[in-house]
Amino acid sequence: MKIASVIVDVPTKQTDRPFDYLVPDEWDEVIQPGMRVIVPFGPRKIQGFVTEIKTESEVKQLREMIEPMDLEPVLNKELLHLGEWLTETTLCFKIFAYQAMLPAALKAKYEKKVKLAPGMKEECLPEAIQSFFINNNSLDWDKALKNGLVSILQREAAKGFLEVVYVVKERVKKKQMKVVSPLMSTADLKIEMERLPSNAEKQKQVLHFFLDHPNPIELRQLLAEANASTATVKALVEKKLLSEEEMEVYRDPFEHRIFEHSTPLPLTSAQADVIEPILASIESEKHEVFLLYGVTGSGKTEIYLQSIQKVIEKGEEAIVLVPEISLTPQMVNRFKGRFGDLVAVLHSGLSAGEKYDEWRKIQRKEVKVVVGARSAIFAPFENIGIIIIDEEHETSYKQEDMPRYHARDVAIERAKTYHCPVVLGSATPSLESFARAQKKVYQLLTLSSRMNERPLPSVEIVDMREELRAGNRSMFSRKLFEMLKDRIEKKQQSVLFLNKRGHSSFVMCRDCGYVVNCPNCEISLTYHRAGSRMKCHYCGYEDHIPKACPECSSEYIRYFGSGTQKVEEELGKILPEARVIRMDVDTTGRKGSHERLLKDFQDGKADILLGTQMIAKGLDFPNITLVGVLSADTMLHLPDFRSSEKTFQLLTQVSGRAGRHQLPGEVVIQTYTPEHYSIELAGTQNYAFFYHREMMMRKLHHYPPFYYLVLITLTHENLMSVVSETEKIVNFVRSQVSNQAVILGPAASPIPRINNRYRYQCLIKYKREPHLTRILKKILDQYQTETKNGLQVSIDINPFILM
Ligand code: ADP
Ligand code: ZN
Ligand code: ZN
Repeated sequence: MKIASVIVDVPTKQTDRPFDYLVPDEWDEVIQPGMRVIVPFGPRKIQGFVTEIKTESEVKQLREMIEPMDLEPVLNKELLHLGEWLTETTLCFKIFAYQAMLPAALKAKYEKKVKLAPGMKEECLPEAIQSFFINNNSLDWDKALKNGLVSILQREAAKGFLEVVYVVKERVKKKQMKVVSPLMSTADLKIEMERLPSNAEKQKQVLHFFLDHPNPIELRQLLAEANASTATVKALVEKKLLSEEEMEVYRDPFEHRIFEHSTPLPLTSAQADVIEPILASIESEKHEVFLLYGVTGSGKTEIYLQSIQKVIEKGEEAIVLVPEISLTPQMVNRFKGRFGDLVAVLHSGLSAGEKYDEWRKIQRKEVKVVVGARSAIFAPFENIGIIIIDEEHETSYKQEDMPRYHARDVAIERAKTYHCPVVLGSATPSLESFARAQKKVYQLLTLSSRMNERPLPSVEIVDMREELRAGNRSMFSRKLFEMLKDRIEKKQQSVLFLNKRGHSSFVMCRDCGYVVNCPNCEISLTYHRAGSRMKCHYCGYEDHIPKACPECSSEYIRYFGSGTQKVEEELGKILPEARVIRMDVDTTGRKGSHERLLKDFQDGKADILLGTQMIAKGLDFPNITLVGVLSADTMLHLPDFRSSEKTFQLLTQVSGRAGRHQLPGEVVIQTYTPEHYSIELAGTQNYAFFYHREMMMRKLHHYPPFYYLVLITLTHENLMSVVSETEKIVNFVRSQVSNQAVILGPAASPIPRINNRYRYQCLIKYKREPHLTRILKKILDQYQTETKNGLQVSIDINPFILM
């Protein structure tokens, strides 16, 4: 008797544990750990993950599971184990941990079909159902039900003639192609060909083709090459001389692109020094974490490529994480160019079906390398030889919903299991990582100069307050304007960068200063030109822009802030001759548009590339000689202890876009606070100074990497209850932790209300609290079981967004 432990898809505190089910005899051979199954749960049928198969259970009255959802496990042993670790370290429900590891398509609804089991022919089946399975057709479950065929199908399935398959619904259906193959040897085929009546000229022609080409061939190609019609092929299939099968083809998201094949470059001596310990770690199968610190253009990517090469030669696999916005075709091409079809790519630009295809290539071990954004860290490889995280300082590696994991932590956890190295690469490492490298927890590897000793671009910081004093009200300083003009004359290209994060165009009355806020969220509404509307980015509320100010009735109500559209308009006025390409969420929404715009810019179809965060990275065009940052301080003033770090990183990164090739580059940074150290030091691109300065601040204010953080956020419709409950939690935590810990709160969140729910928080800063996990679990236990009063509690361990 087999019993399966199942984590069911009911995300509540009480159901966050395995439930035991009997495995019916018919599935005895089939069910394995890591498979999804349908089980009865109360009156419902729900999905779940089998985590274990055992022979005994403490539960007396076991129910039977209904059926499997997979033919093979979707999670391997290591990932099942990793799920437990994720649950423990991020305090999420187990079901969320497992779901996070799978591509979205596997979370969608499935269509159930019955098919001939592999190697079976329809003749084995009772005549009544044979016709459904001719030519390897499958039968929809619904149709089987309607025709009253279920019991007969079940009998045949029990004999092993039929099997059940689950097909993802239409939207993400596997792409199929028809393949024709001969059903007998060439000699037999020749005999059969001679037996055909003399008037079956066309059929003979097709068989003749197979005499010369005895391999399976795609139907379309066969028709072209043998100059035949589908009817002819069909006739031969009916005579059982040929077979026609549907075969799965992968939708290759890059199929129409040609990759320039690249070969390993002879390493510079600096690169050779850096790669040696990484190769040694791969060779000796010793887990180690390397922090590869090197300015942009210092040759880090070549180090990644050659390390991966070694891993592949050893028969192992590589995971490369790249921030979503850097996953540009240029980036992908560097990996595909070196490793060709051995590379799978996972990023959010793919459709659910395409992602599923890439995931299946990994699962079937058809690829050796996956390049992807955060969630690619869960790639179902089973023989990992290296994990690389490029731009390791990027905050997008932290997931903000359950499970609130950081890809870096997951990488290190998996690498420990596989005894392999993790390489964290960055030109501006996160303070946490650099501090760990200083303490020798990570091994620091440094590439200190750009390839071919190309100088870093010269950076000029422009004080915008001075501009205003001099009577320049434009968003362009005189300096930047002159330089833009100069580049257009020289036929060189410029990049204009507008930091949009935490900075949106809002609607304000010029007479009284009234700003239109969201009625639900207490944050300003964002102006959208399309339809002249205002939208709330938190709850989705939207409205028309009022004709007059609701406060003072003035008609001078208009939008403020400088969105990319507005910059584009102003450019049109001051530099009408400039050809501008604008890249932001509005112009890159459609699939492939991001790529197309970049290609146009690369082809010299524009003088200026204007954009937000998404152009800060990865751009590597020889003709860019000027980078302008329009407003460097917008991010400095966010309520976030990392705002200086983020500003420094971003400015350094953007500056790195200029002068990467023969032509020298210049950078202009416009700011209202030129004296701030993160702007000043970004100007000199001095990471070491910045690191020391920022570490002092962090130490002073008890922030990471000196302290760990936990953020507890409570939300409720009633302000009084949320305050008093937060108070209770603060008191409880205080009573449980050591006096080394700092407990802040209750305090209103930086965004105090979202969607009519008030938000209060408690921030815990601590150095060592061995019992903290237990304490936090207790809080969750208490509140997650008491959700009826409408209070919601979320806990973020090592939070990145403190709002
Ligand atoms: P990073 O990843 O640090 O930004 P890249 O790996 O992109 O740096 O290297 C910058 C440029 O130098 C690229 O154009 C790359 O092809 C080139 N490059 C890297 N390593 C070598 C080498 N050993 N010999 C010659 N060119 C190299
Ligand atoms: Zn007004
Ligand atoms: Zn809102």
